Amino acid sequence: MEPEAEAAAMSVPRRPNRRPIAVLAPEVAERIAAGEVIDRPAAVVRELVDNALDAGATTIIIELRGGGLELIRVSDDGEGIPPEEVELAFQHHATSKITTLDDLRALRTLGFRGEALPSIAAVADVELLTRTAGYEIGTLIILRGGRVAQRLAQARQRGTTVSVRHLFRPVPARLKLVTDRRRESLLVGQLVRRYALARPSVRFSLLLDGRLSFQSRGSGRIEGAVADVYGPAIAEGLLPIPAVTVGRAAIYGVMSGRAITRPTRDHLMLVVNGRPVAVRGLLAALEDAYRPRLPRGRHPIAVLVLDVPPAEIDPNVHPAKAEIRLAREAEIAAALAAAVRAVLDQAPLHPSADARLALEPAQYRLPLSFHRIAEGRETRCLGQGEAEKPGAFLQRLRILGQVHASLILAESDDGLLLIDQHRAHERVIAERLRRDRDRGEQQVQTLLEPVVLELKPHQGSLLDQRRSELEALGLDCQRLGGRYFLLRTVPAAPGPESLLPHLQALLEEALVAGEDWRDRLEAAIACRAAVRRGQRLEMSQLETLVRDLGETSAPAVCPHGSPLILRLSRGFLSRQFGW
Ligand code: ADP
Ligand code: MG
Repeated sequence: MEPEAEAAAMSVPRRPNRRPIAVLAPEVAERIAAGEVIDRPAAVVRELVDNALDAGATTIIIELRGGGLELIRVSDDGEGIPPEEVELAFQHHATSKITTLDDLRALRTLGFRGEALPSIAAVADVELLTRTAGYEIGTLIILRGGRVAQRLAQARQRGTTVSVRHLFRPVPARLKLVTDRRRESLLVGQLVRRYALARPSVRFSLLLDGRLSFQSRGSGRIEGAVADVYGPAIAEGLLPIPAVTVGRAAIYGVMSGRAITRPTRDHLMLVVNGRPVAVRGLLAALEDAYRPRLPRGRHPIAVLVLDVPPAEIDPNVHPAKAEIRLAREAEIAAALAAAVRAVLDQAPLHPSADARLALEPAQYRLPLSFHRIAEGRETRCLGQGEAEKPGAFLQRLRILGQVHASLILAESDDGLLLIDQHRAHERVIAERLRRDRDRGEQQVQTLLEPVVLELKPHQGSLLDQRRSELEALGLDCQRLGGRYFLLRTVPAAPGPESLLPHLQALLEEALVAGEDWRDRLEAAIACRAAVRRGQRLEMSQLETLVRDLGETSAPAVCPHGSPLILRLSRGFLSRQFGW
């Protein structure tokens, strides 16, 4: 796999000497295929992501609200734009990527027409905030109706954020064609995943209406990107296509065998010099090679990477840059088809264990559930003398039942006890969390979908300080960029689903000032994970809960300090009844 990884790194364009943005000479501009490219939200995303990639970004965050009609925002950590060029970027045919037509023969960037930003600004409200290396402060420019309405100095990390609001409001005819917001989000989701496959070394995050919908890790390897997009099981089931060279062109990639198929062609992906594109001849050759080996109507998953000298491609044939023309296309297609056939002929006929795994939905890793705690504790408690413990008396209770689905009713030698089930469970969970923390063996559960949380600046810096400690506590939280953080794991607790709606609150609890934040965090987790009042419990669960409570260090109060056991002594009862 080493040569592939190297080649993948090569296919990422580098721009050591950025030219200033300048308007193309008319005779150059005339020869560049133009077209109406901004026809839907995904087209805006494509152009902005192309720009971020051309700027050498390694982290790109794409946010969409209302299917992109309310907001499209793309933030990158690329090279940024110098203040004196910001306005120029919005002029027609203004680009930093080419000057002459000859430059197209050495093109390593995705953009070259200088048309995207002005076309977007013509159909939406646009703001661009950018800072480039060597400048203390960034520039914010606000455009209305394609014209600069305001320009301000504003702080920013190096890189660029473009926010596009009210897309197509000025062109009702186009707005009418974009009606289904969910479909637009879906198309953007597909697009971003294709970019993630095309650029495995870039971390892409897609937020739809504030929720993280997709993220790639930027592992730098196609296999890693495939795992991000299709899941690790599919990634492991794919077969590598060893690199084939045709002249100075090299083609390699990964493909599914016969076991993993899809009902559409959408999962065939071609990446030429780092751009996700279609080259019909190559895609057809790939399909032909598979056809006799796949059931009718089924299609493979494949990511093919082609690195060719820029002079051998013509990117200037399609207005949306979705297709390119390739010199020696037939030769490359034949070599590709032969390579694919060879891989398929050697691949096992039957689905591997991995491929079968791929059919099963991912699951929470649940180290503990209420029942398993119960079993574990019951066996451990047998035969253990625990007379010294403060809660030892709890071990000798006879549990009678549940009252109002909230209280545990129990009998002791000298009275009756009412135990608040929620607070008791809080105490049990908080102590277990603390014990695991002290032993350095905090159990975690990985969230099915990592969650994006937005924090205030002071919380963000506390988080950076406490990050490794938080991770030891089971909260794996990474900075996505700016105020956004991504939470991947939470401490294992019974009823983990109950934690999900409270992740923001929990993290905020972990980011209060003061030394006792760990205890407060554990109390907050315990509170959310504990059985609620109003929840019916089985007799065996009541017994387990009381026994577990008996093993804690302070069984009479919950972690917040509220009492949880009410005792009616024999003496009290007999006095009340006048026995
Ligand atoms: P093109 O990409 O074809 O050059 P655009 O209209 O997309 O044209 O962008 C115009 C110019 O603005 C680019 O050439 C580039 O110099 C600059 N630019 C746009 N977006 C970014 C970005 N995210 N980071 C750095 N520079 C950018
Ligand atoms: Mg561009």
